[in-house]
Amino acid sequence: MTATRTVTVQTSDHGPVTIPCPLWCTGLYHQEGGARIDITHTGPETELTLPTSIGPVRHMATVLEQRPFTEGPTGRGVFVDVEIDGQYHPTGPHGLDAMADALVENAAALRATARRLTTLLAQEGK
Ligand SMILES: [Zn+2]
Repeated sequence: MTATRTVTVQTSDHGPVTIPCPLWCTGLYHQEGGARIDITHTGPETELTLPTSIGPVRHMATVLEQRPFTEGPTGRGVFVDVEIDGQYHPTGPHGLDAMADALVENAAALRATARRLTTLLAQEGK
């Protein structure tokens, strides 16, 4: 059971709506004056970055979300919205594990490229 607090959100279609709000929610997407169906509990964003020659570059971000009144495909349970290149991908635990597995495979390919570059530079005497 997730610890919660209670919040009241003024909606355009149901007036004031009082709901439990999980403690991980930042409250940024309890849109006052919006439709009840759009109320979203949103956690803090976690950015994943890569070091580059110009500094860290964000390649994806994750955010915990829950939409308690949605009729949409994400359902009303907690999920993680994964942002990649401006697109959001609602994802459950298995999908996150699959993404992590793919990142490990990508890391192996990147390391192989690094070893190949090292060999080429050595052959050039650099
Ligand atoms: Zn909330």
